[in-house]
Amino acid sequence: MSDKKLPEHPGKRECGTYLITGNCNLKKRCKYHQPKNITPIEPGLTLNENGLPLRPNKAICPHFSRFGLCKSGPTCKFDHSSSSSRSKL
Ligand SMILES: [Zn+2]
Ligand SMILES: [Zn+2]
Repeated sequence: MSDKKLPEHPGKRECGTYLITGNCNLKKRCKYHQPKNITPIEPGLTLNENGLPLRPNKAICPHFSRFGLCKSGPTCKFDHSSSSSRSKL
């Protein structure tokens, strides 16, 4: 409960996830800088393990569905849920 503070590492790269969602899955383990006063671009957005946004009500990202990756990163407007990659052989 009292552990809501995210680490600040002035001088380091800013945490991309944090800048967009206002939150970071890694919390205190994050090694990037997470400045206190930011306005998240999309608060509440969920990112997958690769830091790509999950948008269940959007179309699947064409790059992600084909190559399993996406250059647009967290700001991509498409869905990146990994349901297409569950056909493991
Ligand atoms: Zn972070
Ligand atoms: Zn994408």
